[in-house]
Amino acid sequence: MPATPHLIPSLVQGAASAIQTHAEEVTALDRAIGDGDHVLNLQRGLDALAKQAESISALDWPAALQKIGMTLMSSVGGASGSLYGTLFIAMGKALKDREMNRPNLAEAFAQGVEAMKARGKADLGEKTMLDVLIPVADALRSAVERSLSVPQWVDEVSRAAEAGMESTRDMIATKGRASFLGERAIGHVDAGARSSQLMISAIAEVLAAKS
Ligand code: ADP
Ligand code: MG
Ligand code: MG
Repeated sequence: MPATPHLIPSLVQGAASAIQTHAEEVTALDRAIGDGDHVLNLQRGLDALAKQAESISALDWPAALQKIGMTLMSSVGGASGSLYGTLFIAMGKALKDREMNRPNLAEAFAQGVEAMKARGKADLGEKTMLDVLIPVADALRSAVERSLSVPQWVDEVSRAAEAGMESTRDMIATKGRASFLGERAIGHVDAGARSSQLMISAIAEVLAAKS
């Protein structure tokens, strides 16, 4: 992990282009079992981040993550905005007075995911983006324990995200709008799981290419 957030503009750009490329697909997923606005919500947040990316990249990691979280909270409507905002703000808190490296990133990400779980009162198996984020947090920790190389690390994180995303297909939703549909949600991947998987894989690729 780079010690400073100078890659933030490329990371935001990577996440935004992954969403752009799959915009129709993700919109169709949210239309099938939600209200269809998920891509628009994300794009509002990613546009706001892109505008501030240069100035955010001049901060230290805790301040940068805090700023990212605040920006997402204030720019994204929808459930996903406050949830992602909570994740990044908690990550910033966890990294306070610590250097950025892979063990501390794994720890901070896990704490961010815990904060998101608390905020949305949701956990694994409820057909949300947590079905991607929780396995990714586990993969980050396990990669640290086994001292993987960067390419292996990226590969394992991306695989965990993809398996988590796919796991939502056969779930009944118990949180969010899809929960109103009961069994009719079965057979559809959750939009937030797909978008978080796309963004995580894109971010991991940028990090691998630049490290
Ligand atoms: P909204 O549902 O308000 O229209 P979005 O469409 O932007 O907001 O986001 C919907 C996504 O948010 C869902 O696909 C799901 O992955 C995620 N989500 C909804 N509720 C929760 C929750 N309580 N915890 C975690 N993720 C959630
Ligand atoms: Mg929606
Ligand atoms: Mg909505």
